[in-house]
Amino acid sequence: MQLTTVVQLQTTPAIHAALVQTLRACNLACDRISRDAFDSQTFRKYDLPHLTYHPVRAETQLAAGHVVCAIAKVAHAYKRDTATLRTFQPLGGIELNKDTLAWKVEEQAVSINAVGGRLKISFLCSAAQKERLRGKRGQADLLLRDGQFYLSVAVTVAEAEPFAPQGVIGVDLGIVNVATDSEGNTHTGEAVQRVRRKYRRLRQLLQPKKTRSARKHLQKARRKESRFVKNENHRISKELVCLATDRQKALALEALTGIRQRGNGLNRAARTELNAWAFYQLGQFLAYKARRAGVLLMEVDPRYSSQTCSRCGHCDRANRKTQEKFECRCCGFQTNADFNAALNLKARATLSAGLMFREEAHASNQGQAVSFSPDYS
Ligand SMILES: [Zn+2]
Repeated sequence: MQLTTVVQLQTTPAIHAALVQTLRACNLACDRISRDAFDSQTFRKYDLPHLTYHPVRAETQLAAGHVVCAIAKVAHAYKRDTATLRTFQPLGGIELNKDTLAWKVEEQAVSINAVGGRLKISFLCSAAQKERLRGKRGQADLLLRDGQFYLSVAVTVAEAEPFAPQGVIGVDLGIVNVATDSEGNTHTGEAVQRVRRKYRRLRQLLQPKKTRSARKHLQKARRKESRFVKNENHRISKELVCLATDRQKALALEALTGIRQRGNGLNRAARTELNAWAFYQLGQFLAYKARRAGVLLMEVDPRYSSQTCSRCGHCDRANRKTQEKFECRCCGFQTNADFNAALNLKARATLSAGLMFREEAHASNQGQAVSFSPDYS
């Protein structure tokens, strides 16, 4: 399976300047190639080099590898539509190939062919990243974000043999608690709430201001927030997959298309937060981490899972007394609302797969089956 991993380059001011110059030169070359392509209506990856390679090399003194990648970038940009002239951000990311980038993974360093000569640059990475970088590496992009240079690299990761699950863990996704599982764990803390509120306030403060500095500030805050969300999503998905491997169970969560619809009954602020939280990303992370670990990931219909009693199956909006509290109007069952929903998802997944796991069999023998009556209208 292919993943993208990102490492931060440790640059000195001189190296930083040389890399900035390289980005500028490459993007300028892209602009020039783009104009030539547009003027002559030549867009194909195989025709463009004939037209542009030699003139661009002669004009820019860029290394061959950079010109090859610039041509590929332009060809790619015209793939979707050729009706408008494409231009490129002066500091947009560029691809590096084996002529312009060499890895020294053991030393945690790379050698990059920049404008003005080759540079040896060390990078920061975790032990897990280093292990992945040792394997087969694919496309690498040089990116500048908030004044820092990064390399984004495609790596190939081994997958575990899928194991036969001994049960299911239901996972309820929500606004207040991002993920709650049917084993009784809540995967978000107060920190998430706090950070999200902070960024929301900042957005409200800055958005009405139309100044350049407010815009820049906002953009930076957005990036920072999305890094935080990404980090949390990595942490949550890792926890869930570890739990599943530990207990040898499958994971069941709602089909992610349902998430947006669920926001309908909420006020605007909550809805914004719901959309802002990258559930889609969480789903993606869960999918690849589960696959890597051999964990079965099941998607279930989440409808009414928050209003249905996980003990007796009675479905009533009034069952959910508050955001937090579930109390069945029929059998009186009381529990945390997200936990109740997670139990429902677990039961649905078990049912839909037609599986009867040992644990469920045991429960029904005791007369307290996790039953679910499909009550959709
Ligand atoms: Zn009930």
